[in-house]
Amino acid sequence: MAAIRTTCAYCGVGCGIKAAVTGPRSVAIKGDVDHPANFGRLCSKGTHLGETVGLEGRLLHPMIGQQRASWDDALDEAALRLRQTIAEHGPDAVGFYVSGQLLTEDYYVVNKLAKGFVGTGNIDTNSRLCMASAVAAHIRAFGEDVVPCSYDDIDHADLIVLVGSNTAWCHPIIWQRIEKAREERGTKLVVIDPRRTETAEGADLHIAVPPDGDVALFNALLAALHDRGLVDGEFLQSSCDVPDGFWNGIDAAQHGIDAVDFAQLVEMACAHPRMLTMFSQGANQSVSGTDKGNAIINLHLATGRINAPGAGPFSITGQPNAMGGREVGGLSSTLACHLGFSAEERADVATFWNAPNICGKPGLKAVDLFRAVHSGQIKFLWVMATNPAVSMPDAAFVREALRRCPTLVVSDIIAGSDTARMADIRLPALGWGEKDGTVTNSERRISRQRALLPAPGEARADWQIVCDLAARLGHGAAFDFSEPSQIFAEYAAMTALARDHGKVLDLTGWADCTSAQYQEMEPFQWGGRQPLAGGFPHESGRAQLVAVQTPAALATSQAYPLQLNTGRYRDQWHTMTRTGLSPRLASHRREPLLEVHPADAGDHGLGDGGLAKVSTPFGEAVYRVCLSDGQRRGDIYVPMHWSRQTGAHSGTGGLVHPLFDPISGQPGFKNVAATMAPV
Ligand code: SF4
Repeated sequence: MAAIRTTCAYCGVGCGIKAAVTGPRSVAIKGDVDHPANFGRLCSKGTHLGETVGLEGRLLHPMIGQQRASWDDALDEAALRLRQTIAEHGPDAVGFYVSGQLLTEDYYVVNKLAKGFVGTGNIDTNSRLCMASAVAAHIRAFGEDVVPCSYDDIDHADLIVLVGSNTAWCHPIIWQRIEKAREERGTKLVVIDPRRTETAEGADLHIAVPPDGDVALFNALLAALHDRGLVDGEFLQSSCDVPDGFWNGIDAAQHGIDAVDFAQLVEMACAHPRMLTMFSQGANQSVSGTDKGNAIINLHLATGRINAPGAGPFSITGQPNAMGGREVGGLSSTLACHLGFSAEERADVATFWNAPNICGKPGLKAVDLFRAVHSGQIKFLWVMATNPAVSMPDAAFVREALRRCPTLVVSDIIAGSDTARMADIRLPALGWGEKDGTVTNSERRISRQRALLPAPGEARADWQIVCDLAARLGHGAAFDFSEPSQIFAEYAAMTALARDHGKVLDLTGWADCTSAQYQEMEPFQWGGRQPLAGGFPHESGRAQLVAVQTPAALATSQAYPLQLNTGRYRDQWHTMTRTGLSPRLASHRREPLLEVHPADAGDHGLGDGGLAKVSTPFGEAVYRVCLSDGQRRGDIYVPMHWSRQTGAHSGTGGLVHPLFDPISGQPGFKNVAATMAPV
């Protein structure tokens, strides 16, 4: 069979893949040399995608409780419970928790159902855990959630600054591009990360910033550039609003960084105006994540290092379609298509959708959504393509919330995830290689995912499941889609509203696309390479510098004296429901390791290779000890992937506090008060 062009299932790099079916459930994978995100290269996860398309653990039939059910019975039951919940408790008793693994078309219809027809803003996504702080920072600075850079900027930058990103492991194809630029152009690399990661090892400069020290560092760097006369007064005058007292609030001294390292950073930033700052989860997953994003953006705006090749603040997303989801409105804090909740915007969206119940306000963000489930405010929850029982902070609380929920519907490919096992109704969804749609990567490039394999069992596309349910609620006409191209065309037409409200998001060229045109779609970037070069989407047309202050230090204590950081391994993805199926991926790290500075290990009676219990006020989990002088004293690090199902390990999500950024709602996974002891 000829190879089919599609897109990788994993990270926000969005690599193009050529996949050829070689057997009933077997696929040969190659990189797509024509895809501009990766030009044929793939990392280990993408390369081994073919090992994960088997049917082991798949949910193949609808289930009501533990009983197999027909689609009609399962959807009738879900619709009945949804209608009853709305009738008895109102629309805000309903919640949806969806995923950056969904395709844009899935995201579009479930957002439309929730916000236009059920009438609640309570639809949030695991992307809240990934990059919501970058979204909030973009909106504050630019007036719209627009990433102002492209991968191509890597090839033009003279200085790349990576903030909170173990790029070599988490975005390996971006890393290869950075390495190429370093080899061929002599591009300088600075890594700002509390840990000396694999990415930091080979950098020209590694700044071991204290946990949550990024705001102070970028403020201090901006102050130093200001002192050196590198503020671009002309650009500020023509294009930016600067709050009164902004410069007085910038503290040049309180950065907590080794003075020699800081001086070197300043020299490098002074010498290289083509500076690209790429930031990721280490910045976003913080109680000050939005301020970190704005501190980075402030520096680029104030120095005019934006809207030029090789220069700008570049947020790198985690999931394959976090961007597509936020474009259609899949975060509870936006309505749809980059539009908000003003009376005008709500009226325009209601008219476009012919929606009877347009929601009146933003909904609950992820942590508060599960609190509302726990408290009984939300009585009907639909979880799509994600496993919050493991991945949410304070996961034990979330599991209790899911147990208490009167109706939990889960649509997923996995039959027995921690979340699915608690569901009242399970609906089998299509997985990668079986479904058709689009995804958007970190540089706003929309690519097709294409089906290669037949639907297994009775599984259906997520968009189809949503439409089938919507029809049972009496909204069949608004959800009368028979293929994803029709949904994409409607979404593209809807972006005319965004454009009319001054937004950059504009896909109206695809509004009349045919099924054949959709099938043939080549990867394309909305907004072009420099989407903000023509002006900023704030009503004024100007960007906004935002005064940001150093956050209060984490409250450690005698009982919890350490600062726990969490993150990814190179070859695993999220809670391992897919990558856990590949023996070759498992060989990189067979178990979760606790990385700890040797002196801290000694203080706590731990030895290399022994077992240690990590405890926080929220839970405990056991890890094997790995001594590492790449850890700062007082900081420890564990991976996020393993769940309660894997042996003695009780899950990293269960350790993490439910504290979040007050603006973005993104939880602070990177800095949790903790302790450890030998087992
Ligand atoms: Fe897939 Fe990301 Fe690896 Fe590319 S870098 S192959 S998108 S996991």
